[in-house]
Amino acid sequence: MEIKNQQAYVGGIPVQELVQRFGTPLYVYDGQAMVQQLEQLRAAFAVPLRIKYAVKALPNITVLKWLRRHGAEADAVSIQEVQLALRAGFRPDEIMFSPNCAPFYELAEAAQLGVQVNIDNLPFLERFAEQLGRSVPCSIRINPHIRAGGHEKISVGHSDSKFGIPLQQLEDVKKIVGRFNLTINGLHIHTGSDIAEVRVYEQMADIFFSVIDDFKQVRFLDFGSGFKVPYRKDDKALSIHKLGATLSRRLAEISLQKNRRLELWVEPGKFLVSGAGWLLATCTVVKETPSRTFAGLNTGLNHLIRPMMYGAYHDIVNVSNISGPQRTYTVVGYICETDTFGEDRLLNEVREGDILAICNAGAYGHAMASNYNSRPRPAEVLVVNQKASLVRVAESLDDLLDGQPEVDL
Ligand SMILES: *Cc1c(COP(=O)(O)O)cnc(C)c1O
Repeated sequence: MEIKNQQAYVGGIPVQELVQRFGTPLYVYDGQAMVQQLEQLRAAFAVPLRIKYAVKALPNITVLKWLRRHGAEADAVSIQEVQLALRAGFRPDEIMFSPNCAPFYELAEAAQLGVQVNIDNLPFLERFAEQLGRSVPCSIRINPHIRAGGHEKISVGHSDSKFGIPLQQLEDVKKIVGRFNLTINGLHIHTGSDIAEVRVYEQMADIFFSVIDDFKQVRFLDFGSGFKVPYRKDDKALSIHKLGATLSRRLAEISLQKNRRLELWVEPGKFLVSGAGWLLATCTVVKETPSRTFAGLNTGLNHLIRPMMYGAYHDIVNVSNISGPQRTYTVVGYICETDTFGEDRLLNEVREGDILAICNAGAYGHAMASNYNSRPRPAEVLVVNQKASLVRVAESLDDLLDGQPEVDL
């Protein structure tokens, strides 16, 4: 979001104009900002990089098509995400499928579609080897025993986590490979989200280096994602520049010392789309109480759950009063339980009817929205080349009733 002459713009379009045209609450995305992230990532690496966009962060079909047009491939965690990616035009061989505890038939279905499947437990690896292993390769997700990332709910690489095949079980993997003549074509680690230290990715490189001799047919190393983006102005983010330099060097070392040709894969979600999205909402009421001043919005945790689910910090901007005097507000939603977007925030004076923008809403925003309190989910707008397109219509009451037959009891 850009501020020029006391006005806020997304992709060159005044936010006020977007609000007049599409109403609030509204998710707005800046397509160019996503492309800049893609380009920054590519530029940071000295080796060819396959960027698998984590569809779950923002699965809108137009966004998927846009990212594909700019060279992204896809990372899916459900068979439905695989199907969405196919509908968006991704070729099967551009899609990585890394489910966890999804039914086995989803793996089989994805493999039959020609999608790269990534298996994260021994029972499924064995079943896959038995049923498909002679003709179809797969990669394995390794649990690296690393505790990294932000909130506990998004730290998924530690030894108590349900994700990945623990290092101690790689002997069993080798037995399955030998018994069924299975081809393991890739090694994968994803340790969680909001990782700010390049060191964590170096540890993954160490693990790949130490196990790769056992997997002669591996042709790619997938470092997952979790690239931390800044949520506050002074936030420490992962240095993509350093990450690129480090992983490029490590890949070259592994390739040279092991005499292997290896591709480098990553699976960013948040990094590509978080900062490119805003949730716009209207202030419904300014409520003074003896303890604080609340700014109430016409949206809530049903539309953006990250603050209440992860204690996530999202910047908030009053785009209707860019240079007004600053006051302290607790910004809250309209859901009937504690529903706080930001506590004690210094904002330009908020008046009833003002438009507030909640930042970093591109990733895990609309994707995690629900109909709680029987509220329809908001529309989504994508701005590209100074043109705003409605890429998802807001829901209505009819949508909420859709699929609920009127039953005579
Ligand atoms: C969620 C997820 C990602 C993306 O994580 P971000 O933190 O959004 O970049 C990548 N790979 C897998 C397997 C995931 O589950």
